[in-house]
Amino acid sequence: MEPSTVAVVGGGAIGVTATAELATRGTDVTLYERGSLAAGSSGRAAGVCYDAFGDRTDARIGTRSLERFRELPDVFTELPYVWLAQSGDEKRADAIRKQSTRMRELGLDVALVDPDDLQDRFPGLVTDDVAVAAIARGAGYAETEEYVEAMAERAAQNGASLRTETAVTIATDPLQVVSEDGKRSFDAVLVAGGAHSKRILDTAGVSIPMKPYRVQALVTETTPNSETVPMCYDATGNYYFRPHTGGLLVGDGTERVESDPEHWKRDADDEFVHQTRKRIAERVRQDEIGVREAWAGLCTATPDGDPLVGEIRSGLFIATGFHGHGFMRAPALGERITDEILGDDGIRRFDPTRFDGNETFEIVAGMDIE
Ligand SMILES: Cc1cc2nc3c(=O)[nH]c(=O)nc-3n(C[C@H](O)[C@H](O)[C@H](O)COP(=O)(O)OP(=O)(O)OC[C@H]3O[C@@H](n4cnc5c(N)ncnc54)[C@H](O)[C@@H]3O)c2cc1C
Repeated sequence: MEPSTVAVVGGGAIGVTATAELATRGTDVTLYERGSLAAGSSGRAAGVCYDAFGDRTDARIGTRSLERFRELPDVFTELPYVWLAQSGDEKRADAIRKQSTRMRELGLDVALVDPDDLQDRFPGLVTDDVAVAAIARGAGYAETEEYVEAMAERAAQNGASLRTETAVTIATDPLQVVSEDGKRSFDAVLVAGGAHSKRILDTAGVSIPMKPYRVQALVTETTPNSETVPMCYDATGNYYFRPHTGGLLVGDGTERVESDPEHWKRDADDEFVHQTRKRIAERVRQDEIGVREAWAGLCTATPDGDPLVGEIRSGLFIATGFHGHGFMRAPALGERITDEILGDDGIRRFDPTRFDGNETFEIVAGMDIE
């Protein structure tokens, strides 16, 4: 039976999108966020979005998300996404060639480009050291807090109740959301608590194999070439960047160890800032790179690199484990989890019941090309 009351836990990109979808379809939905909206990883994300995935399901999700982002022209800016391997890195160069072939077979607008071609298209980019690059035209970037705000507005306009500054736990039998105000029963609950999802589910006696891990980003001072570069991931150097208000937003600094979602270092490491300035100076040919701000945030890993999206116990749904790709997939996954809550089949590959919850595993970052 279709649930008539649904609670969503977590006011990040995933939670607010699902809330907006549910409200738009006439469901009585209440969102609980322990801080302010976008207080978690969504407010710290780079907002890079693309459909360049070599797997059919991922590519469809990417394509659908881009369609939805394009409906928000104040939030989303179209810009090609380039990923490259440096000369001498044959392993990654080969992987990029294969990935781009596979993506084209899936119907994606992806092409291989040589360094001269890349230089012609993006004069701001240094390409002398590039062995091979692929370019995806289905791409762009979104201002992440503005996206969350837009979805929250849509949710509220369609009757959703948004309860910020309200931390909750979950009880099962019966399914309830527990806050300082007491317990409230719902027909269905979606836990979209980002790095906290595992802890929230623990309170309901449900175990998931998910580990939060720390990543870093910074924004440079005005960078003259920022308007003539694409969004770019250097797979050999293992960093990415995109234009950001006259400068560049640059990320990675991934720590492949589990972080405590309550206690982690929110500032960027000096070493990350130092390395990133050096790399960017080389990639955009600028002597000195100033840094406006630098920070860290948490991503979430699963044993197989795929997210946990779907029903894990009767009426209890989860959406987490995005390996640094949760923001770009939020529009499509918000729709798909809503479909599932309202009775449709979920995405089989992402079914959270594929694990028993006690798996041991290593953290692999989402962008890594091994
Ligand atoms: C530096 C950085 C750069 C990134 N760049 C990109 C990128 O370019 N593209 C991309 O796709 N992804 C990127 N990501 C990953 C992206 O941020 C996440 O995948 C995405 O934001 C996950 O959204 P979410 O809604 O699942 O989680 P979150 O945004 O973390 O939202 C979860 C919310 O749940 C709330 N919450 C937690 N516990 C409770 C509780 N008990 N009760 C109520 N509320 C609770 C939190 O306060 C939080 O607001 C990046 C991440 C970082 C850190």
